Amino acid sequence: MSLVPYPPEAVDRYRSAGLWGTRTIADELHAVASQHPDRDAVVALDGRVTYRQLDSRSDLLAAGLAGLGLRPGDPVLLQVTNRLDTVLGWYGLLKAGLVPVATLAAHRAHEISEIARRVGAVAHLVERGGKFDLVGFAREQAVGQVLVLGELPEGDPARARGLVEEIQAGIGPDAVAVYQLSGGTTGVPKVIPRLHAEYWYNAAAYARSWGWTPETRVAHLIPVIHNAGIVCAVHAAHSAGACLVLGTPDLDESLPLLAREGATHVLLGHGHYRAADHPGFPAATAAITQVVLSGAKVPPSLFDRLEARGIWSGQLFGMGEGLFLTTRPGAPRTARATTVGTPLSEHDEIRILEPGSETEVPPGAVGELCARGPYTLRGYYDAAEHNARAFTSDGLYRTGDLASSQPIEGQRYVSIEGRIKDLINRGGEKINAEEVELVLLRHPRITGAAAVAMPDPRLGERTCAYLVVDGDPLTLPEVAEHFAAHGVATFKWPERIEHLAEIPRTLVGKTDKKALAADIARRIGPEEMSAR
Ligand code: AMP
Repeated sequence: MSLVPYPPEAVDRYRSAGLWGTRTIADELHAVASQHPDRDAVVALDGRVTYRQLDSRSDLLAAGLAGLGLRPGDPVLLQVTNRLDTVLGWYGLLKAGLVPVATLAAHRAHEISEIARRVGAVAHLVERGGKFDLVGFAREQAVGQVLVLGELPEGDPARARGLVEEIQAGIGPDAVAVYQLSGGTTGVPKVIPRLHAEYWYNAAAYARSWGWTPETRVAHLIPVIHNAGIVCAVHAAHSAGACLVLGTPDLDESLPLLAREGATHVLLGHGHYRAADHPGFPAATAAITQVVLSGAKVPPSLFDRLEARGIWSGQLFGMGEGLFLTTRPGAPRTARATTVGTPLSEHDEIRILEPGSETEVPPGAVGELCARGPYTLRGYYDAAEHNARAFTSDGLYRTGDLASSQPIEGQRYVSIEGRIKDLINRGGEKINAEEVELVLLRHPRITGAAAVAMPDPRLGERTCAYLVVDGDPLTLPEVAEHFAAHGVATFKWPERIEHLAEIPRTLVGKTDKKALAADIARRIGPEEMSAR
């Protein structure tokens, strides 16, 4: 079976507790839009829409998409960046009953061909105008129909609403709404099916956890077609009737937008932990009442600086697979500064297990964070073999993250203490080490390869490849050429190489990644970390 369903008794429990609703995401948006028609729904660098405009324009897009012969349930790949049209297109797809597949604008042939095959994508939605010609790329990939943001056909305004209602009436709340991609498993990314009711619940619970209201103005700077972008920004803001202030990762253009639009809440990913040093930061945060830090361990100095400016700060742990932990308003300062908080839902069950076992570690000890709950997946899509390893026997998802928990003022708070999954977290983009190694080993002169995370002051981590080669050492440009020839997304290319006579092994014969990570951390050293 490709899709692992939530057990029927869990569905009943989540629904009767009022967590899961009975509407599709498109219907949820329409209901909120009808309540707040004249409020701002999205303010982006390239335009703005009220809820009424968002609702009616996405209806037109849905009708246009249906007119192209795309059918409810059809997966559509998305490769777009943070623009107003992206949000319109997102809801347009959902309203047409199509299933957005959240690939990254940075993905190339290596990723797109595999993801398209795995989900059976019938169309590829891209944007025009970036440095890379995504439209030409999509044509070459020939996944199906090539759709271009801003150039999508619109249906008949008199019929669009009725058509959307008809389409949505045919979709159950527990059908697949979106495919997200996992960064943290073996090989190429695994596909995470997200269902209408649970995905909307995830976002609505997130908005409630911060106490958002229709007055809230939620700024988002990191790629919006990511799980964090959809849950924490697009759906969460819209579940509360709030405004999404959509910037881009470029602080020079986005901080003035936050200032102009009076943003009240912002999520800062690891790549933006230095935003506080930017000259535009004070103006951008003049109306901010909540800064949420996420994606990597938060340096205490950053937390102190934000609080010294009077900005309330908290933390978030989240993943495309589901589980969220947050330090919500009212959490003690120590909890906000040193932990990622408590689970989003009172129905989340978390356990910290000895890796590879089902035994809980003693209180306070470090183990693998495992979770089951009303918005955490029960299985990757079409991945039976992997699923058998990725869950405990009673269905808790093994996150691959290491965590500990400690009581603070009577509550159990979780801290992230590292990870066991073999990936590199490059400013929030997850790079699968095994995927990189498999590409390296396709090079005719590379006989051994290990990809490890090297510390980087700006991005947190970047990829260093340890290589065993036949003949003369390879240069970094030669390795880059090899990755380009295989159509691999640039963010996955090794950014440093080290040559070895052989790859070090552990006693059980696995690549000794710990030794290699320690080696590269030593070579980089504190001077290089502070110089960059
Ligand atoms: P993604 O599914 O791309 O959102 O990535 C989720 C992964 O990012 C988690 O499994 C963690 O490895 C990492 N992550 C997310 N939030 C945090 C955090 N606050 N601290 C440390 N790691 C985090």
